[in-house]
Amino acid sequence: MKDVIVYAEHQRGETRKVTFELASEAGKIAAALGGKAHAVVLGPGSAKLAEQLKNYPLETIFLNEDASIEAFLLDPIVDYLEAAARMAGPSLILIPNTLSGRDVAGRLMVRLAAGMVADVVEVKPDEGAVVCVSPKLGGALITQCALRAADYGVVTVRPNAFAVETGRAGARLEQIAKPASKGYPTAIDRDVEEGAGELALEEAPVVVAGGRGLGGPEPFETLLKPLARALGGAVGASRAAADAGWVPYNLQIGQTGKTVTPTLYIAVGISGAIQHKVGMRASGTIVAINKDAASPIGEFSDLLVVGDAFRIVPELTKLIETAKGNNS
Ligand SMILES: Cc1cc2nc3c(=O)[nH]c(=O)nc-3n(C[C@H](O)[C@H](O)[C@H](O)COP(=O)(O)OP(=O)(O)OC[C@H]3O[C@@H](n4cnc5c(N)ncnc54)[C@H](O)[C@@H]3O)c2cc1C
Repeated sequence: MKDVIVYAEHQRGETRKVTFELASEAGKIAAALGGKAHAVVLGPGSAKLAEQLKNYPLETIFLNEDASIEAFLLDPIVDYLEAAARMAGPSLILIPNTLSGRDVAGRLMVRLAAGMVADVVEVKPDEGAVVCVSPKLGGALITQCALRAADYGVVTVRPNAFAVETGRAGARLEQIAKPASKGYPTAIDRDVEEGAGELALEEAPVVVAGGRGLGGPEPFETLLKPLARALGGAVGASRAAADAGWVPYNLQIGQTGKTVTPTLYIAVGISGAIQHKVGMRASGTIVAINKDAASPIGEFSDLLVVGDAFRIVPELTKLIETAKGNNS
């Protein structure tokens, strides 16, 4: 395996940060393998996304605005990716570890008789093989699986595993031919968008996360949401808060939750257990508000504010709102 192919998942040209993370890392992996990095962009809006991807270290961006991508379930995507992979020969295909990304990856693995590793957080080329690091069993085990270089490899990558780094611009845009239609069995009737307008936790520039120290579900609404709103961010939580049923599990950050890398992470009433730390340690600036000066989170925070969250957070929110008002 030499070349690396990124599947650039998107909706009408709008994509998630993970696509740019993969496009950034693909160049490095391909260089280590002695090959080239490419991206495949499919469906309406492809040209728009392809223009953005030109800023990343890619050799070729294969695209096709084919409307059937939106008209059927995942089968046409798998056809196109298979075609791109066959053109490249034994290659590593990187796919976002999203709901549909995992589905595409499983099907592609069968088509290419490829090795596959899911939910990967690190990809390390290693003397003719590609080693993929992936937490398993809810994070209790960290596995390393090596894909053989002579074969195809399919890997789904967790959002926020890689940094976004634009690089050598000037990737070539190339139309990829529509694979011969096989007649797809499942057509999409209509798309329903849920939760529109809410900032996705993994992509928020600021995350305000709450833990057991908040004592119940209400402070997430009355304390954390106003602070997150003032900062243009999103609310997250520790597992203790999610396990208690105070917030849904999709807000959980950590080893068995989401990995986030905001510019600013504010941990409120969170002790900083290792399983929480692994999901937020790569954040830009970490601020902790905790009534215990000896709380472990102090060891890896840039700023530990010691005191009662119920007094500090409303004051902080007020100050930010005032500062915003004064500046506008
Ligand atoms: C396999 C495994 C996977 C796990 N995965 C995750 C994961 O993905 N994410 C995760 O978060 N955890 C995870 N955990 C759990 C983790 O070990 C901790 O139990 C958990 O993170 C603790 O959550 P917490 O910090 O909210 O609660 P606690 O550890 O109870 O800390 C509460 C903190 O709030 C402070 N506090 C209390 N009252 C106030 C107040 N009024 N104002 C300010 N501060 C206050 C306390 O001083 C304390 O530091 C996992 C555990 C295991 C075994």
